[in-house]
Amino acid sequence: MSNIVAIVGRPNVGKSTLFNRLTESRNAIVEEMSGVTRDRIYGKGNWIGYDYSVIDTGGYVKGSNDVFESEIRKQVEIAVDEANVIVFVVDVTTGLTDLDEKVAKLLRDVNKKVFIAANKVDNTSRIGLSSEFWSLGLGNVYDVAATNGSGTGELLDDIVKEF
Ligand code: GDP
Ligand code: MG
Repeated sequence: MSNIVAIVGRPNVGKSTLFNRLTESRNAIVEEMSGVTRDRIYGKGNWIGYDYSVIDTGGYVKGSNDVFESEIRKQVEIAVDEANVIVFVVDVTTGLTDLDEKVAKLLRDVNKKVFIAANKVDNTSRIGLSSEFWSLGLGNVYDVAATNGSGTGELLDDIVKEF
């Protein structure tokens, strides 16, 4: 288990968009296996000479905000079992939610390096919105915009230090 980054977080925060930003290729094999729930997607990427894998633990679950605590638990379980670095994505446009708190509570008990990606910081007017996420007690908060790639380089610079 090395150089594996798992992306966790509640629906609609931008996990899949960030996954696409961090990866160049996807492993379709897992998706094709019959009888296997499509609950995770794997991809590969490279940053400053480090090869890594990324797992989108949100899989194909799309759109709904009716996510259960059990699904959040499952995401964290996958991350703990398969990855050595966890990226916890939150959304500055909605701010901190109860579900974010639940994810954070689980992650605080996990013996893995966690990076908080405060997503949707699309422009300078949104800088500062992410400060509330420091209260989650998981360490550094990285302002990113998955749609345009802003801030993802700084995040990756620190992630590869864990490899
Ligand atoms: P997931 O459910 O966590 O996988 O979230 P998605 O990646 O599917 O994104 C949910 C929505 O947020 C989509 O409409 C994305 O286009 C949007 N989104 C993702 N990243 C950003 C971002 O950096 N800025 C903005 N404004 N929207 C974003
Ligand atoms: Mg998704």
